[in-house]
Formats: sequence, structure tokens, C-alpha cells
Amino acid sequence: MAFEGLAERLQGTIQKIKGKGLVTEQDVKAMMREVRLALIEADVNLKVVKEFVKKVSERAVGSEVMKSLTPGQQVIKIVQDELTLLMGGEQSPIKFNTKPPTVIMMVGLQGAGKTTTTGKLANVLRKKYNRKPLLVAADIYRPAAIQQLETLGKQLSIPVFALGTEVSPVEIARQALEHAKEEHHDVVIIDTAGRLHIDETLMDELKNIKALKEPDEVFLVVDAMTGQDAVNVAQSFNETIGITGVVLTKLDGDTRGGAALSIRAVTEKPIKFVGMGEKMDALETFHPERMASRILG
Ligand code: GDP
Repeated sequence: MAFEGLAERLQGTIQKIKGKGLVTEQDVKAMMREVRLALIEADVNLKVVKEFVKKVSERAVGSEVMKSLTPGQQVIKIVQDELTLLMGGEQSPIKFNTKPPTVIMMVGLQGAGKTTTTGKLANVLRKKYNRKPLLVAADIYRPAAIQQLETLGKQLSIPVFALGTEVSPVEIARQALEHAKEEHHDVVIIDTAGRLHIDETLMDELKNIKALKEPDEVFLVVDAMTGQDAVNVAQSFNETIGITGVVLTKLDGDTRGGAALSIRAVTEKPIKFVGMGEKMDALETFHPERMASRILG
């Protein structure tokens, strides 16, 4: 299960302070040493760990705790609050264009789960938001990516716009936008090319697609299992092309949780959804508060 190690360690630490009627600065220090180690072990970015520990420590020795009748509980609440804030605080909704179609670009490295997530997202948009999405197969480089999207489209009964592998992704996107207008699709989701590595050609192509019509959302799909690498990928994509949100996949696996806890703080971009399996209904809206509760038990 995801976050298992982190959850176990944090919950253990919390137990020690839970019932305390008096919390001293020493208690807070001892607790924060353990929290720090737990976060580092969970592969959380070092700078993020430092900031987090500093914030919690400052608040935990402050008056809100000292004046409280249940100081132990109060410290736990602070940890929970700060963990929630670390992951973005509020849930971040999808930004829809007031003039349809809303354009969502899906970007990411090969294998992260981009094409699968594209299908899942279309499913969510139709079921939960009552939209009429069009999927666009613009990943012309990975063998079988187009076919994969078409198969998902068939399975979901959601149309897929494809022009094969000989037409450029920018041209595919351009024609897809026209097609969407004609067919009254209110959301267009473009599955762009994933590469094995971030390179200039990939980024230039994404910029060119972006230049056609400014997308309302640019979702970066990253694999939670890759930890710090996922954070670095997010930082690069954000700096080079600009992203509006992150979809963290494979959270059903036994990820230590570092990516989920670091991405927001490092990129300042919210996690919008999490992938919880391979099936088309396994995409969940990301709620920072619920995730923090899950980790703290
Ligand atoms: P792409 O190269 O980024 O388009 O990646 P794919 O969409 O082809 O996904 C790569 C693999 O990851 C496939 O086997 C997917 O079924 C799997 N996958 C994607 N998302 C998830 C997820 O949330 N959980 C799990 N367990 N597997 C996932």
C-alpha cells in the first residue's frame, strides 16, 4: 500500500505525544526529529522536509498549543494542517473555459500512464461533469499509442480523433479543434507524445501545440513510484512549457509517497488527480486533506 512506511512512522510518533497534558519544547524537538527521518525515508525532497519541520516546530511551541487544554492533540492537529497545506491545502478544481471547447493537454514521459489517464479523465468528465469530450491521438511516436487510445475510446464509447502517424501532432491538434467545434464537443483532451527523456524536440512540439490555442489545462502525468524523479520531471516541464496541474499515477502501488508530498511545494502546481489502478474508473480527485488524514491514520 502507498505511504505504508511513512504512515506507520508518523502514527507511531503521534502516539507518543497524543495524550500529553503538557508539551515541552523538548517533546516537540524529539517528535520533529522522528518526523524528519520519516519524511526523508519516504523520499520527500530535502528542502521540503526542512521547511515542513520548521513550520510545524514554530507552531507547536507557540501559544496555540500552550494555551490549549489538550496540547498533545493540538500538536497532532498542527502536523495534519501542515501536511494538508504541503499538498496544496484546498482541492484544485478543473478550469473549464466559459467558451467551449475547453482544451486539456496531457503531457509526460513514456510509461508514466499518460494514455491510460487520458481515457480515465474523459470518463470522469463525462460521468461526473456531464461533458461531451473528444480524445485526440497526437502521440505519433510511441508504437501503438494511437491504437491504445482508440481501444480505450471504444471501450468508453467516447470518440477519438486520429490521423495516423504521418501527420504532425500540431496539425492533428489543429484539425481536432475544428472537428470538436463542428461536432459540439465541449472538452478536447489531447494525448501528446511522451518520450523516454525530456528533450528539446519534445518540448518544442508541445510548445507548438500550445500555441495553436492556449490550453485551459496542461496536465503533467507522472508515476508516483519514481519518487524524486517525478518531482524533477515536474519541475522541468513546468519551467519549459508551463503546466497547470499534475496527475500522479500508480498510487495504488507501494510508493513511499515522496512525490505526492513534494510536487506541490517544489513546482507550486497542484496535484489534480491520482491514478489508483489500470481500469478506466480508477482516477480519483486529489483531496489534500483526505490524503493527510489517510497518512496520519
Ligand atoms: P504512457 O506511455 O505514459 O502513455 O503510459 P500508458 O498509459 O501506456 O501506461 C503505462 C502502464 O501503466 C500501463 O500498463 C498502464 O495500465 C499502467 N498504469 C497507468 N496508470 C496506472 C495506475 O494508476 N495504476 C496502475 N497500477 N497502473 C497504471
